[in-house]
Amino acid sequence: MNVSSTLLAPLVIPRSEHSISRAAISPNALKVLYRLKEAGYQGFLVGGAVRDLLLGQRPKDFDVATNALPEDVRRLFRNCRLIGRRFRLAHVFFGNEIIEVATFRATAAPEREDAEDGDADAEAAGGGDEVRGGDEGEAEGRHEPDVDDAAEFSPPSDSEHRAFDPRGRILRDNIYGTIEEDVWRRDFAANGLYYNIEDFSIWDFVDGVRDIKERRLRLIGDPETRYREDPVRMLRAVRFAAKLDFSIEPNTEQPIKRLAYLLDGVPPARLFDEVLKLFLSGFGAKAYRLLQQYGLFEHLFPQSAAAFALAPYAYAGEMLERGLENTDERIAADKPVTPTFLFAVLLWSAVLRELNERQAGPSPDLALLMQACDTVLRTQQSRVAIPRRFAIPMRELLMLQPKFNRRSGVKSLSLLQHPRFRAAFDFLLLRAQVGVADPELAKWWTDIQVLPQEERVALVQARPAEPAAEGSAAPGRRRRRRRRGGAARS
Ligand code: ATP
Ligand code: MG
Repeated sequence: MNVSSTLLAPLVIPRSEHSISRAAISPNALKVLYRLKEAGYQGFLVGGAVRDLLLGQRPKDFDVATNALPEDVRRLFRNCRLIGRRFRLAHVFFGNEIIEVATFRATAAPEREDAEDGDADAEAAGGGDEVRGGDEGEAEGRHEPDVDDAAEFSPPSDSEHRAFDPRGRILRDNIYGTIEEDVWRRDFAANGLYYNIEDFSIWDFVDGVRDIKERRLRLIGDPETRYREDPVRMLRAVRFAAKLDFSIEPNTEQPIKRLAYLLDGVPPARLFDEVLKLFLSGFGAKAYRLLQQYGLFEHLFPQSAAAFALAPYAYAGEMLERGLENTDERIAADKPVTPTFLFAVLLWSAVLRELNERQAGPSPDLALLMQACDTVLRTQQSRVAIPRRFAIPMRELLMLQPKFNRRSGVKSLSLLQHPRFRAAFDFLLLRAQVGVADPELAKWWTDIQVLPQEERVALVQARPAEPAAEGSAAPGRRRRRRRRGGAARS
């Protein structure tokens, strides 16, 4: 279906017939909307903000759509920057709040281009550190160094505005349009509503209000086409279903399993962003179950999915669920969460599997463990690019696990001072919860933390030396074993 040619009049819901009050809208977003209006442009609040306000929830951010061109928007706001290469978007800054102002677009390309058109491998290899922190100009500069952000922007001619890859994914798409056209590029009807600053009405072209009432996610247009254009929409379906507790309408749901493989073609840096939104937003456990249900998880974390399916690592799926439940609880309690721990839980079984292929003995050898971590990480980077600033502490956290087994001798206490001790200890607790670490060991490390130093020393000196060289690196194994024997004798 050529949706963009289906131009309908919207259902206009007047202020008296909907629940969105200006008091619930960010004052900064209102400022932007009023300024656009005063300058003679249309100004609408769009997307998730309208959806969340109708649901009575506080929106995460407030996005604005307008018929003003990006250059016009920049002229209206001093505190404004244009970002993006294929689509120029205006970011209007108010302290640490950014109001994103997008010009109506005529075609169905993805909303965000975040790192989307970059060289995936180069981004993964580079660690993709810029991906999250870059709240401004993430796509420009990196991919288009010859265009500075002050450069005049002129829309490309029609002949060059659209390009697809062989799977139907939109690679380049850049023409502006009207609100009647803009609505068709949005993903779900529930995300396709416009709140008009002119008279505070809601414009509904796609029966979005009904979907919100019935708590349903329905793609606008033909689902398969929309997934092919942008496979990330499959992850968005899961994310909103988990976050909002919405159902996925059958036609929107049906192609997902069959098309899940399309995720393999999405740049890993973009998938990293999506994975964080899925797992670290307070509904990770549910999102994970849905990703599994729709066959999406194996395309994000193929090594983990493969390990979960093997008997010796079957516990790892449960461990991940528990880890995500803990994370959800922490977020609900306003405690900080870190991608480092998440990726450690996600990849642990894959690392162990890799390790077990390298060594026969039961006690992990640190050098081999490190190699196993690196191999798994390297392979993982081609799917979900984990920036170095998370990958390196994740490796440290995993490398500390064998060290918990060593409890005799004063040296064993140094673990308590390690900067990653807290995260590594939480990880040990999680392993104990699913039965792969000794609960007595977990309790020992729990208890020792609250003891004064003299009592800690007494405790580790009272313990007999451990027999195995667990936790030691291969070259030092012999020497250390002798030393530890000595300590036990003394
Ligand atoms: P959140 O609560 O996570 O911010 P949101 O719906 O606002 O949810 P955003 O990613 O902020 O999601 O995007 C804003 C709007 O842009 C969406 O509501 C949707 O209309 C549109 N959009 C975003 N990403 C896509 C996409 N990949 N394909 C089509 N439309 C999209
Ligand atoms: Mg949003």
